[in-house]
Amino acid sequence: MTTSRRIIIPRTEHPISRRSLSDNAVRALYRLRDHGFRAYVVGGCIRDLLLGREPKDFDLATDATPGEVKKLFRNCRLVGRRFRLAHLHFRDEIIEVATFRSTAADRDDGDDRGGGDSRIVKDDGGMILRDNLFGTPEEDALRRDFTVNALFYNIADFSLIDYVGGLHDLERGVIRTIGDPVVRFTEDPVRMLRAIRFTALLGFRIEPDNWEVIVELAHLSANAAPPRLYEEILKLFLSGEGERCYQLLRQSGIFAVLFPAVSTWLETEAEADGYPHVRFGRALETVDARIAAGESFSPPLLLALLFREYLEEQAAACRTGGSSPQEALDAAVARFAAELAPTVQIPHKVVLGIRGLLSGLRRFTATPGRRPHAFVARPGFGELLRCLELTADSPDEKKLHAWWVRYLAANPPAPGPAGEGEPEGGPPESGRPRRRRNRRRRRRSPGVEQAGP
Ligand code: ATP
Ligand code: MG
Repeated sequence: MTTSRRIIIPRTEHPISRRSLSDNAVRALYRLRDHGFRAYVVGGCIRDLLLGREPKDFDLATDATPGEVKKLFRNCRLVGRRFRLAHLHFRDEIIEVATFRSTAADRDDGDDRGGGDSRIVKDDGGMILRDNLFGTPEEDALRRDFTVNALFYNIADFSLIDYVGGLHDLERGVIRTIGDPVVRFTEDPVRMLRAIRFTALLGFRIEPDNWEVIVELAHLSANAAPPRLYEEILKLFLSGEGERCYQLLRQSGIFAVLFPAVSTWLETEAEADGYPHVRFGRALETVDARIAAGESFSPPLLLALLFREYLEEQAAACRTGGSSPQEALDAAVARFAAELAPTVQIPHKVVLGIRGLLSGLRRFTATPGRRPHAFVARPGFGELLRCLELTADSPDEKKLHAWWVRYLAANPPAPGPAGEGEPEGGPPESGRPRRRRNRRRRRRSPGVEQAGP
């Protein structure tokens, strides 16, 4: 088993105080400690506090078993099939309490409190399928992914404990696996995406050996569970550093593995605007800027923004045999989701959301008809308008967006009569309400006989 050199940093030599933690976390730590258990704050939140960033949440680790945690806290629910975790539910936060875990597959010391079948199970290629084995704090540090994610704060004496050189890497801004990167990335290929996310988000660099291994093992990313990859991809693109994540995904080869068809398309040279991947990157820059300004994105909106151009081109290409533009778009979205399903599995509801947005965009120009107020009153119109704003790159589309914004200002959807305050000039170009077609048949000019059979 891997061993480590433990470094303990006393309270006087590090900046994390109890005030940096949430009150609920501090109370839970004390409750565990007062009942004779070890209680640490672990993982990303210690990393973030040391970097002066606001932690997303507070995760605790303890030597109390999930059952023992449950007895101590009335607001505790046990969750997780692969590994039992305790969730403490408070009004405005959930605190996760995990029992120290080990990855020592060959442990044979009888301290097997995981219960039932608690060995590490790997597949033939070395990927972990199950690892529900309780362990010591040191083992718990060693099974974590990156050195900077394995720092512990000990409530007993307010010290920091570093088993893996995490503080040194944090100071130098380095993302590095704990242990051999070949083993660690093979065990769980999602770690490669996590390495990219933390590198981009924290403005760090990936340790050079780790990067070489990621490039070498990029193909393994396709082995991870597709729903998990979908979640992780969303985290990357919505991290606020989505553009940087995208560049690292491309450079590592992971993007081509996870999005094979889109990737081939992105590499094609477009006539006017360089490569499509430049525009894909620009779309993510826009998303990053909006996130920095405090906006948030639903998964359908994000994915519609990123893949609109690809999907519209696919729809145009599959418009054969007289299918309508809408049918072609539906088919393109369905094919996109089906092609991705073996790697990045987009939930059906999200696929429907993407389709709804893209067909809604068509309606801005095609069918506001005589009743723009009915269009505005549709559920989800606000998101659709945002989608138009964020994807509008031609002057016509920008004009169209501006028209709808003015229309909306003059005709707030509710309350009050709609459809009265159209901005001057009506919607530009094809967005303009259409004239009703004259239904009367033209009389055939006399004397022109129809060719008989
Ligand atoms: P975030 O800010 O995204 O929440 P985080 O570091 O807290 O970052 P989590 O996904 O919340 O990440 O995981 C909490 C901790 O669990 C990590 O800091 C890491 O120590 C450990 N961990 C998470 N995923 C893995 C993994 N795939 N392999 C090993 N350890 C992991
Ligand atoms: Mg976290």
